[in-house]
Amino acid sequence: MSPVPISGGAAGLTAHVMHPMASPDGCPALVLNADFRPLSYYPLSLWSWQDAIKAVFMDRVNIVSEYDTVVRSPSFNMKLPSVVSLKTYIKPSRTPAFTRFNVFLRDRFSCQYCASREDLTFDHVIPRSKGGLTTWENVVAACSPCNLRKGDKMPATVDMFPMQKAYAPTVNDLHRNGKLFPPNYLHESWLDYLYWDSELEP
Ligand SMILES: [Zn+2]
Repeated sequence: MSPVPISGGAAGLTAHVMHPMASPDGCPALVLNADFRPLSYYPLSLWSWQDAIKAVFMDRVNIVSEYDTVVRSPSFNMKLPSVVSLKTYIKPSRTPAFTRFNVFLRDRFSCQYCASREDLTFDHVIPRSKGGLTTWENVVAACSPCNLRKGDKMPATVDMFPMQKAYAPTVNDLHRNGKLFPPNYLHESWLDYLYWDSELEP
């Protein structure tokens, strides 16, 4: 198979796809801290291949593992990094980001009122109209029918309380659920660096 040039790369780089399934746009690099743990789990620390290569040339990272996909420029050929590690340790954030995905993950992708897994939305336990905030402690996964039924009423008014009190999860809480709901895409070279430490931390 002859290499297929892909345009639009950074700094005049042209990626040649050596594998029919590989596209440079589908080649993010997992970013590890200097201790070889992911810089962040939720969301998983990933860089585009352009950012990863930039960091390599700025001497900020080591290449730990590579894709088969090669980028070429007039002066060099290089396999795209699939895992890089920072040369300087950065103190990681201990709290997962408050994102839609992470709220669903905390709630195991199930409605906190009826356990349905379909048609999931978000519910403010204390409605916004009653001063409820958009925070870990006040937002839960809820299916559309439950969300509609609850509307902007207080939990006691409609006797609808979340099965699990809304809370700000730790990375470990999300790890536990993350194993049940792994992300859609995990490159095989990443697996050595994911999840292994979850049992060891408090
Ligand atoms: Zn429901």
